[in-house]
Amino acid sequence: MHAPAEFAPDDPELRIRVRAALISLVAGTAIFGGKLAAYGVTQSSALLSDALESIVNVLAAAFLVGSVVFGGKPADRDHPYGHGKIEYFSAAFEGGLIAFASIAILVGVGIALWEGQRARELEVGMVISGAATAANALLGVYLLRVARRSRSLALEADGRHVLSDVATTIGVLAGLGVSWATGLWWLDPVIAGGVALHLGWAGFRLVRRAAGGLLDEEDTQTIEELLATLERERVPGLIRVHHLRSMRVGARTHVDAHLVMPEYWTVERSHVLCDALEHKLNAAMPGEVDVVFHADPCRQEHCGVCEVADCEVRREPFTARPPISLEEAVAPDPPRGRHRP
Ligand SMILES: [Zn+2]
Ligand SMILES: [Zn+2]
Ligand SMILES: [Zn+2]
Ligand SMILES: [Zn+2]
Repeated sequence: MHAPAEFAPDDPELRIRVRAALISLVAGTAIFGGKLAAYGVTQSSALLSDALESIVNVLAAAFLVGSVVFGGKPADRDHPYGHGKIEYFSAAFEGGLIAFASIAILVGVGIALWEGQRARELEVGMVISGAATAANALLGVYLLRVARRSRSLALEADGRHVLSDVATTIGVLAGLGVSWATGLWWLDPVIAGGVALHLGWAGFRLVRRAAGGLLDEEDTQTIEELLATLERERVPGLIRVHHLRSMRVGARTHVDAHLVMPEYWTVERSHVLCDALEHKLNAAMPGEVDVVFHADPCRQEHCGVCEVADCEVRREPFTARPPISLEEAVAPDPPRGRHRP
């Protein structure tokens, strides 16, 4: 069901993301125009490679607008885990484009070196490109700030890409300055080749990271934060925690875990504990957290570490409660036999 009513465009968080994506698109187009003009004046391979990098950014920003708008939609009947993962497609798409641009530039470099093409009026092109780069730097810083606040991988990818553009353009301009001052014409295509290799690597890393998100690679930092919160907020009935997993979908984090609770607790009592922990996790973690707990009844092996004072079924005295290690927290259930009495 994709009724438009379920979409909340007045969600302030989403409005900020959409605005950032639109700003990236408009500013990226203007910056691309500036860089293309710099190439037009000079016919420099290095400035062309720089401009090609920018058109990749424009295309990616257009895709970003769509993915942020769609990805910000709340969960619905068709997509019960929300739509946040669309952002990984945006990141993968952008990474793929960057890698493609790098190959295109390398081909151009080969031709320029072979034919001995020389750039002209480099000083004019360098001034134009320098102005476009200053604007780009402001855009990149702005995008990263919004991305951190709203935990958007797509905006972060875009912001990083823009800032890496700025760094490469500064390198390109420095090299072209040397070429202009010394008359070493071949420096221009060589610089372009360097830009291409740098781009290819950046593209590969983006695709790699997007794949990690799509395949729900373990995010150790999130698990550590969750575990620290559970340990801090623990109450005597929360005996142990295992099979703790998390999955990030856009700005939401899905968490599930097995909680070992006293075997004689009623559903009502377990529910109170689960609800309380849910609220604590939501308060402690950035963004929204969806929590699903599975209840495991305690066994004799837990008595030694169980702090419940008025236990009805205690079979061994309490000795000490060791902290829950990361390894214990993420371990799946012990083999079936050990889970039974
Ligand atoms: Zn949907
Ligand atoms: Zn409930
Ligand atoms: Zn017990
Ligand atoms: Zn279990």
